[in-house]
Amino acid sequence: MNKSIPVTSCDKPQTPWLNVNEAINRMTSAVKKTQETEVVALRDALNRVLAKEIISTINVPPYANSAMDGYAFNSADLPSSGENTLTLVGKSFAGIPFEGKVKSGECVRIMTGAQIANGTDTVIMQEQVQVNGNAVTIKSGHCKNENVRHIGEDIKDGDTVLKPGQQLTPAELGVLASLGIAEVTVQKQIRVAFFSTGDELRNVDETLEEGQIYDSNRYTIFGMLKNLGVELIDMGIIPDDRQAVEDAFKQAAKNADAIVTSGGVSVGEADYVKETLDKLGKVDFWKIAMKPGKPLAFGFVDDAVFFGLPGNPVSVMATFYQFALPTLKTMMGLNITKATVVKVACKTDLRKTPGRTDFQRGILQTNEQGELVVESIGMQASHVLSGMSKANCFIILPQDWGNVEAGTLVDVQPFRGLM
Ligand code: AMP
Ligand code: MG
Repeated sequence: MNKSIPVTSCDKPQTPWLNVNEAINRMTSAVKKTQETEVVALRDALNRVLAKEIISTINVPPYANSAMDGYAFNSADLPSSGENTLTLVGKSFAGIPFEGKVKSGECVRIMTGAQIANGTDTVIMQEQVQVNGNAVTIKSGHCKNENVRHIGEDIKDGDTVLKPGQQLTPAELGVLASLGIAEVTVQKQIRVAFFSTGDELRNVDETLEEGQIYDSNRYTIFGMLKNLGVELIDMGIIPDDRQAVEDAFKQAAKNADAIVTSGGVSVGEADYVKETLDKLGKVDFWKIAMKPGKPLAFGFVDDAVFFGLPGNPVSVMATFYQFALPTLKTMMGLNITKATVVKVACKTDLRKTPGRTDFQRGILQTNEQGELVVESIGMQASHVLSGMSKANCFIILPQDWGNVEAGTLVDVQPFRGLM
């Protein structure tokens, strides 16, 4: 049973905010799939997006073969009771088939993957027969076609095997190899420029002075983009300076299909991001009814799609996963599947104020009874990036929920292995 306790809130939106699903829909429907494709060698196709369907021109397996090491013979020789002794007349090994024809009363030694010899249709595994010189005794209780892998059982000549929009994982690489396909047509990688904004930010190789912090967002963004499989253009840290911000946006729009920035989208005095985007682009500034990550900008700078993520490090990751990920996938030509969400019991109480959808950070694991359970990582503030590292999932709490009691069933979205 879900138990949510409504509480009075001082965090209620004054004006209606955009809800999470509405924002996802607006963003994914505003962008188009890249039209550019390229042909790459099979290994280079790993993690790329297939652009043309794959139709098989062969059967896999290409010939009937044995699933076991054993003896092959014709099923007409199977005894209905008692036993039958067959004469061993040869062998069929993987890659070296038996060349003759097996007659009634005969059998051949056969190995796993070896072609089913002419005249045979059944294999009994070696542990289940008695061999005495050339005499092979089989018992009753077996059936026709036992241990035979049929031609085309995996893939048939003419089958549509893979469809455009599919990401090529190790399994697809193997399937393509099984069809003898050495090159594939994939979508060209989209180019994504990213930079951080803020006078307080320093690079990791610099020494911090009073009032400064390291730029961590550019590293989480780098990681998420890299895992997604886009071409990266890292533009570094852009100071809170009108000209620098404008130059950065112009350069990014010239070189990239999409731009991802962090910081400067909430209204702060020294943030020139909004001012510049009002001048250069068609960008909406939204307040999304989610926590973390309320402010978010989305739109276009010239032809480049722009994601203005908030500055707080946890908000960056949460908004990237929820919004930038499905939108960039759409641009990449990747079929977007709904993120996996499972309902599990939460072991801990959760604090929540009604009004926004919470993406609290949690740890999803199996308890001693073998059941999946989730617990909060503890401190849920949007600047606590270490919590994102401790967590393996978001605990998604609906907009209208208040505090949650331990034992409540909650929606959990795993984010390790999400991409
Ligand atoms: P802003 O939206 O620019 O006002 O930033 C909100 C908060 O996020 C501030 O505490 C910033 O210092 C912090 N922040 C902004 N950008 C970064 C970044 N690249 N790395 C780490 N923290 C950041
Ligand atoms: Mg800032």
